[in-house]
Amino acid sequence: MSKMKLHWRILIGMVSGVLFAIAMIQFDGGPKVVSDWIKPFGNIFINVLKLIAVPLILASLIKGVSDLKDISKLSKMGGRTIGIYIVTTVIAVSIGLTIVNFVKPGASISQETRNEMVENYKADTDSKIQQAKRQKEDGPLQALEDLVPSNIFNAASSNGNMLQVIFFAIFFGIGLILIPEKTAAPVKNFFDSFNEVILKLIDLIMLAAPYGVFALLAALIAESPSLDLFKALAWYSFCVVIGLLLMIGVYILFVWIFTKRSPSFFISGISPAQLLAFSTSSSAATLPVTMECVEDNLGVEEEVSSFVLPIGATINMDGTSLYQAIAAVFIAQAFGMNLDLAAQLGIIATATLASIGSAAVPGAGMVMLVIVLNQAGIPEAGLALIFAVDRPLDMCRTVVNVTGDSAVAMIVGKLMNKLKKS
Ligand code: ASP
Repeated sequence: MSKMKLHWRILIGMVSGVLFAIAMIQFDGGPKVVSDWIKPFGNIFINVLKLIAVPLILASLIKGVSDLKDISKLSKMGGRTIGIYIVTTVIAVSIGLTIVNFVKPGASISQETRNEMVENYKADTDSKIQQAKRQKEDGPLQALEDLVPSNIFNAASSNGNMLQVIFFAIFFGIGLILIPEKTAAPVKNFFDSFNEVILKLIDLIMLAAPYGVFALLAALIAESPSLDLFKALAWYSFCVVIGLLLMIGVYILFVWIFTKRSPSFFISGISPAQLLAFSTSSSAATLPVTMECVEDNLGVEEEVSSFVLPIGATINMDGTSLYQAIAAVFIAQAFGMNLDLAAQLGIIATATLASIGSAAVPGAGMVMLVIVLNQAGIPEAGLALIFAVDRPLDMCRTVVNVTGDSAVAMIVGKLMNKLKKS
């Protein structure tokens, strides 16, 4: 068993989790047994992954930036990273809009089904709308203001402040570059060793990954709502999944064009992170493994991966933006609204920004979807229509989010001459 490749072990864990849950729900008390005795292990697994997210970002980013030894290199890499991230996000939204306008999944939802769903999911929808309202009340420059923490310990105390920790780490790294090398050496050595320790911890956590995903998927199946609702939303889900698959095709193409690496090299190298993204629905929780895969399997040097990936996990969410575009137009269609070209262009802009603003945690994309809906004048109550299938689609879009970050890491690695020869 121990010789088997990690992605196979994770896959076996996932499939056995699903089968186990299907068997358990046949019994009366089965779902409760799963949620009392299996689910906690899944939660522990996610917690331990999140536990090392902040120390990982601090250590690897400080090491990465200070290894650059040169501020101009840093700004070059930063510019390229952000530029490519924005381009891939706009491509993703455009793919989403094209598919949803072509297939028109919302047109088939009858008024009756619509009313029923709005009624069923009213409470859940209201809570998402409230969360979005809190975010929306902020001024236009709030996001920029939020980037700079006033206290690093406060910032590091919540995984939701990832961007603030990134800001501090880059700032600290710049300080390290600017002081004489000899003076910087002890601090740099400390962070280098700290980084090594964290990487070892990731190795240890990965030993538990197959069991962790078993528990996560078993709990998910045992607690999911009835199949009927899923069926009503089949066309919508189909559009999202096709869009996400196309987006993976776009990454494969970009990786091939820029780095000449084959699709199988890229996909098999990143597959453990993809499977984990699918099981956890969180790019932030997957980050440690994404970094390991990108460095060890795809050959991107740490200097680049430690910069590109933490930033990507927080701001580059192509899967999320694609889903937001499809969901917004689907809801408009279901309410019989016709969106003109200007409204659709508006969706490209807001979905791009909303995906940047989405946190890298389960369900975050749906909260930010409210803002896209508001902007386009689509009824918020429409969220209820897509609630039933949001979790499985969240799992799929998170896979695309981490695949996108990894593809961009390879491309930036190539552009910066930091991609190992295969
Ligand atoms: N779960 C997604 C992620 O962590 C965000 C979202 O679309 O909800 O990447």
